[in-house]
Amino acid sequence: MTLEQDFDKHIREQHRIAKESTGYKAPYYWKMINERGALQAAHDLLVGKMKIHDGLTELVLHGRLDLSLEASVIKPQWRPLFSPLEIETAKTRLKQLNFPLVDAMENLASQEIHHEQPQRRSYETNAIMRDQYLPKKVKEMYEYKCQVCGFRLESGDYWYAEAAHIRPLGSPHNGTDIIENLLCLCPNHHKLFDIGGFFIEDNYEIPQLKTSLNVDAMHNLDIEAIRYHRNWCKHS
Ligand SMILES: [Zn+2]
Repeated sequence: MTLEQDFDKHIREQHRIAKESTGYKAPYYWKMINERGALQAAHDLLVGKMKIHDGLTELVLHGRLDLSLEASVIKPQWRPLFSPLEIETAKTRLKQLNFPLVDAMENLASQEIHHEQPQRRSYETNAIMRDQYLPKKVKEMYEYKCQVCGFRLESGDYWYAEAAHIRPLGSPHNGTDIIENLLCLCPNHHKLFDIGGFFIEDNYEIPQLKTSLNVDAMHNLDIEAIRYHRNWCKHS
């Protein structure tokens, strides 16, 4: 088998695992793979450093960026198939999404050690089990519009938004994985929220941004989670 054929097989397998573990079928991506082959699909998708396609978003939300096309592209064994610019594009996207293995892959590639990355295991065990459908549900509730600024990122047929936990999951915050603890935010407001750049009052006002949170009548936000985040902002 040629390296290209190996890559094709590998990408199909990654897609199968991603489908099983996230429930997201990535139909457009799958169609591209079948029509053009995985390598050509990869070349076509690796255009635009800052372009975050929907498949990546889904994988982020499931803590499975390791299954992304970009994560494969930066692996030493597949690098010969790609141009430096394409590898850079993959790295930039993954870094934007805080994928922890970008530097590890860089080290591996520079040492030219061709084995499966050992760090992958620890990343997966650190991933918190999440409800697969909640992020999608909250985003659909707001039609992918940010609850703070109302903005929806669009790229062709894709809409992009992020599901943000108000009280983070996992230690030390121990928030709950329920839709009442989730917000639909644009990437900027998600980041700002996570670093404590703004908090939400009980009446949903956001004093720092001189606006208030848009909350759907069907979305019963967890007020304790909002207070927890606010308290954390004020005392950290
Ligand atoms: Zn926003």
